[in-house]
Amino acid sequence: MRFFLRLLGLGILLLLVALVVNTLRLPSHQLSGVVSAPVVPVANSALAHLVGALQIPTVSTTDYAQTDTAQFGRFNRYLRRSFPRVFARLRLEKFNDYGLLFTWPGSNAELKPALLLGHYDVVPVLPGTEGKWARPPFAGAQDGGYLYGRGTLDDKASVLAQLEAVEYLLGTGFRPTRTLLLAFGHDEETLGRRGAGTISAALHQRGTQLEYVLDEGGLVKTDGVAGIKKAVALVGISEKGYLTLELTATGQGGHSSMPPAQTSIGAVAAAVVKLEQHPFPARLDGGDDHLLDYLASEVPLGQRLVFANRWLFGGIIKKILAATPAGNATLRTTTAPTIFRAGAKDNVLPIDATATVNFRLLPGDSVAGVVREVRRIIDDEKINIKIVGQPSQPSPVSDPNAPAFQLLHRTIRSVFPAVIVAPYVVTGATDARQYAALSANVYRFSPTQINQEGIESVYGSNERLAVANYPKMVQFYATLIRNSQ
Ligand SMILES: [Zn+2]
Repeated sequence: MRFFLRLLGLGILLLLVALVVNTLRLPSHQLSGVVSAPVVPVANSALAHLVGALQIPTVSTTDYAQTDTAQFGRFNRYLRRSFPRVFARLRLEKFNDYGLLFTWPGSNAELKPALLLGHYDVVPVLPGTEGKWARPPFAGAQDGGYLYGRGTLDDKASVLAQLEAVEYLLGTGFRPTRTLLLAFGHDEETLGRRGAGTISAALHQRGTQLEYVLDEGGLVKTDGVAGIKKAVALVGISEKGYLTLELTATGQGGHSSMPPAQTSIGAVAAAVVKLEQHPFPARLDGGDDHLLDYLASEVPLGQRLVFANRWLFGGIIKKILAATPAGNATLRTTTAPTIFRAGAKDNVLPIDATATVNFRLLPGDSVAGVVREVRRIIDDEKINIKIVGQPSQPSPVSDPNAPAFQLLHRTIRSVFPAVIVAPYVVTGATDARQYAALSANVYRFSPTQINQEGIESVYGSNERLAVANYPKMVQFYATLIRNSQ
């Protein structure tokens, strides 16, 4: 007995040693020896250009026929006036009238082009919430060091900062060796088929392969991540897929005085309950593992021990992530019932009952696989399952060890010296997914410094950008273009 106890004690000791050794041997993924980027003298006119852009209400509506496209025309004429060198020296192609593709040819045609993305449509302001804004959403007004307005974060500031950077570089006599493409969509907020979809199809047809693609979808989070005190620059290396299913049960109808044991409403309700009770499995290999790798050497010691020994603590990490909706969304394909429809009169049994369920697919899952699994979970022949709209697969996960990622990493650190860089999976959708076939290196990052509260304003009220952040955005894009040569 004593022998076994001793053996057990020895086992525990060895385990502890292994945990500590793993923790101490943890390499940092942060690049060292990054030199600060040369300061770009951003003129006062740069901020004025952004203010003017915010004042044009380029609002996307779900039904494109209802969209006031005259504002898109106004916006394009505004860009032409604001960036005369860009329009004189770069080739411009238009797709579906308002999707813009600029080409700045490099001197070395052997090098694959780099592509910067953005979109200039914005989401509407929910009627009745205008009063909640500290400054009106389309005035381009400043208050307390912030510039307010739809598009300050999503995504006019990126578009304007990219153009500003190119305008500046043209003024310095800079000539790229690697071709630079800029593509700006006008319908990103409504799936991006007309803008990004058409531009990417045209590039595909030309056989264009890209060194890297950079879109929005990541940012510099100033209040840290996972207990880290420093700001963390999150770079999206993949984005989740999108699938909507309609579950329908068809009943007999008839009078409610003589109902059957299960009505169509009961059948669909039971199916929805089953889906909620059987979430898709939690996985760290859908992109979270890369994030943990990069954060592990930066978090406080206790957490470091956990992050460094995922073979043992994987379950705990999953539990902690699953406890919040945001963490949970990074961990699994999510299931969200969004519409429930049945019945019209209190004493009549409905014939059809329908529930709409929206899924966001974690990299590694597929549309067909999720449909199969939903069928298996519901396991009820009375429920008809139908795909609604255009589903999209999760994007491939871009390799954070690729030279293009290191280039981006170095550029971020040279403009924002104190930040930690980390790859992650974007839970929303961006235009970038449309370009997956054109490059192995598709990244989602805007040089926007923002805290948690600011992130929550993106689709809500008081969307705003720190005025001091804007010159940094211009400097970031100028530095990235220079570094890409
Ligand atoms: Zn956006």
